[in-house]
Amino acid sequence: MTPRICILYTGGTFGMKPSAAGYAPDGGLEAALATTLPAAGKDGMPAWDLVEYDRLIDSAEAQPADWHTIAADIAARYADYDGFVVIHGTDTMAYTASALSFALQGLRKPVIVTGSQIPLCEPRNDARNNLTSALLIAARYPVPEVGLFFHDRLLRGNRATKVASADFAAFDSPNHAALARVGINIDINAAAVLPMPRAEHFQVVEPGTQEVAVLRLYPGLSSARLQHLLAPPLAGLVLQTYGAGNGPVAMPGFLDALAAASARGTVIVNLTQCQRGGVDQAKYATGSALAGAGVVGGGDLTVEAAVTKLHHLISCGLEPDAVRRQMPLPLCGECSEPA
Ligand code: ASP
Repeated sequence: MTPRICILYTGGTFGMKPSAAGYAPDGGLEAALATTLPAAGKDGMPAWDLVEYDRLIDSAEAQPADWHTIAADIAARYADYDGFVVIHGTDTMAYTASALSFALQGLRKPVIVTGSQIPLCEPRNDARNNLTSALLIAARYPVPEVGLFFHDRLLRGNRATKVASADFAAFDSPNHAALARVGINIDINAAAVLPMPRAEHFQVVEPGTQEVAVLRLYPGLSSARLQHLLAPPLAGLVLQTYGAGNGPVAMPGFLDALAAASARGTVIVNLTQCQRGGVDQAKYATGSALAGAGVVGGGDLTVEAAVTKLHHLISCGLEPDAVRRQMPLPLCGECSEPA
């Protein structure tokens, strides 16, 4: 039987049209896809249905509530399809892919987020290829996780990050091997794919109203500025530190600001600014001092995975200490097991 895939169209460059102000989201994608995509059954192409969102957005406008809408829409249709493809803007695609991976735990069918750098309406575009490959993988390969397909690779969604604003190869997954490569053949890297879970246990939890912030350390940051950012009611902070997880801990007021926020219940997660590798707070005195101030090491999480994981765990109602314990432990392949 021809597999059936549900395509959720949320916006992004993929379906945009030129306007006086630059590319802007546009609807009516179903008709364009019907004339563009290979017919169902041809060369393994699945049949598909399209859900076009009423509010099509540039993904720069995406908010946590939008991640929840997509997760709930997939969960509501889960039994009716062999897999799902989400068409999304590239700017915050890695956040959405990460958020979906936490919301759809125990997934047993592929959910592949994709988009493009040039809209489908342009004569030269990467939209058609990206969508065709995403559909073929979703239909033919039982990858039981949220993936992000771009250019020629399927990446784990919660390991992916946007690395290029003008290349067709716009995404990378610096700390995890690609799940698949698409050339003349589609090669699945089975060793990199999550095992098939025994049962789904979706937790499509309503997003809370908590605020989660990101701060990248830089020489010149003042303790006053840090204290200002940490002011209540901040629930979580992703602190991007130097190298293996180091910060200016000798600066007067720096550790005090972090320790006071931790004591108030703000979960502060230490991630490296480096593209590859992770945090080991025990390696240097400048890192272990952060641990002493209540900062938890986030291992090799991406910023996108850390932000969405914080939102997910806090929205699940976990207390700050429970969130701190969970942050370095993989829930769905988003980070390596702590050493
Ligand atoms: N600004 C666009 C978006 O994220 C960029 C893209 O889709 O490539 O929606």
